[in-house]
Amino acid sequence: MEYKKLVELYQRIEATSKRLEKTFLVSEFLKDTDIDDIPKITLLLQGKVFPPFDERKLGVASRMVIKSLNKSLGISSDAIEKEWKNTGDLGLTAESLAKRKRQVTLFSQTITVSKVFSNLRKLAGLEGAGTVNQKVALISELLTSASPMEARYIIRTVLEDLRVGIGEGVLRDAVVWAFFDDSVHIRYDPEKKVINPENRELYNAYTEAVQEAFDILNDFSEVAKIAKTSGLKGLKSVNLSVGRPVKVMLYQKVKDVAEAFERVGRPAAIEYKYDGFRMQIHKVSGRIKVFTRRLDEVTDQFPEVVDCVRRMVDGDSFILDAEAVGFDVGSKKYIAFQSISQRIKRKYDIEDVAKKFPVELNIFDVISFGGESLLKTHFRERRALMERIVRPEPYRLVIAKQVVTDDPAKAQKFYDESLAAGNEGVMFKNLDGIYKPGSRVGYGVKVKPVMESLDLVIVAAEWGEGKRSGWLTSFSLACYDPDSGSFLEIGKVGTGVKEKVELGVSFEQLTELLKQVITKEKGRNVWVKPMVVVEVNFEEIQKSPTYSSGYALRFPRVIRVRDDRSPEECSDLALVEDLYSHQRGR
Ligand code: AMP
Repeated sequence: MEYKKLVELYQRIEATSKRLEKTFLVSEFLKDTDIDDIPKITLLLQGKVFPPFDERKLGVASRMVIKSLNKSLGISSDAIEKEWKNTGDLGLTAESLAKRKRQVTLFSQTITVSKVFSNLRKLAGLEGAGTVNQKVALISELLTSASPMEARYIIRTVLEDLRVGIGEGVLRDAVVWAFFDDSVHIRYDPEKKVINPENRELYNAYTEAVQEAFDILNDFSEVAKIAKTSGLKGLKSVNLSVGRPVKVMLYQKVKDVAEAFERVGRPAAIEYKYDGFRMQIHKVSGRIKVFTRRLDEVTDQFPEVVDCVRRMVDGDSFILDAEAVGFDVGSKKYIAFQSISQRIKRKYDIEDVAKKFPVELNIFDVISFGGESLLKTHFRERRALMERIVRPEPYRLVIAKQVVTDDPAKAQKFYDESLAAGNEGVMFKNLDGIYKPGSRVGYGVKVKPVMESLDLVIVAAEWGEGKRSGWLTSFSLACYDPDSGSFLEIGKVGTGVKEKVELGVSFEQLTELLKQVITKEKGRNVWVKPMVVVEVNFEEIQKSPTYSSGYALRFPRVIRVRDDRSPEECSDLALVEDLYSHQRGR
């Protein structure tokens, strides 16, 4: 397929903010796409060339793009930088510079989707010193044959900043519309921008099947291919594959013990809610892999976890769900997440930090064992299995502390005990519940005393003044809208960030992180690529016309940087709406 066709689609998607229209555009395109191109197209539509759990990164910085533009267009770096200041976007810069150049040469060749895809993938294979020129050559090769509009999107994709705005919701529906329209008859009305499926029930069933397959595979490029080639049956037979991370199950918050029982039924399994970070642990053919909840692999960073799992969990093949909690070496007391979070990205002195900041692994679920998926197995059986296969050792690897009861007084006592032991609260779990990757369907709920905090992504900031000059100080926060794949602003915050800190969040730390992702600057204002996620407390959520989410936070305060969450994993609009409507007095 010609890349030009995909670029036309990008433009049409970018031109509309209507979700159904985007879905329609994508679905029509998928219908016309050859099976071999479908995986590439679905990835490129998300601005990617690798599925999310793939560790490979393109590793291209703005400097390298400027070099490539210089090489392919023969325009000086100064002139490129000047244009970049103007547009604030290297994609637009590439487009406008290429336009000027083309007027002189009037020359452009056809480039194919496969060519773009394969050059971008090659970028990821080049690491370390001496590879810059090879990378520049790969990008320049594309730019030399690209039309100005193609150049815009090539550069944005290279910088992993496509900005077209299709999220998981749109892709999921587009797959349904593209491949199941014959049975469902979506009946999209482009004028009114509504759909009216002939068989709504069937439509929902297909949508759920696509979503479920995605929650397990985590990769629309595969889901779309399966939907096209083997239909509903194929989607339904998608199964876990040990070694490949699967989305974790999430839990909704309820206000107290009574509501928790109401939601999960009686009796319920009640567990300590440990305050650490989630680990999904796979063992396959003797090899152990550790993933964070955002499905990044962190096996190398946690050698002691690998060692404990090897020694203390029986079985050759399994997937465990667990919480790693830091504890103080001297007092053995649990400590705040912040101090161990640095281990997640650590690349050197790993053994040293492991000794200084050890973690205890609290296993609370098992979703695959001996090659069998346990996603549909009831929780009581999964727990019984855990108890059979785990040989616990305190401060190394244990099973989450649990009671099973239908008595509110006992439950309340357990909750109080959990808080007294330094935990965040308790989880209530339905004993007959299955494991649903990626969803908050209510087989389990959490009860904790503090107001739910939000994980928000920083999208803009302001340079400070006076003694704070040189630091970014005021941060615009956004939540995620999974349907459109966009980030919606919900307020600004400066409180909670410290000038000097040992632990906690400092201006210096945030400035360092954000400086790497600045996309535009004007006066004291800077705009950044949504990359840095912070956890934020607040007093209340209010409706607000000022921000694009329609909501604002009263008295927001930054608690910590969430290294373990990707921007797409920050709080979504539905959660904000939910919290808003469940606030006291509402
Ligand atoms: P939250 O992060 O507030 O949405 O709470 C859910 C998180 O609590 C999960 O993602 C786990 O990381 C963590 N957690 C701690 N203890 C447990 C437990 N016993 N069962 C399930 N999740 C737990």
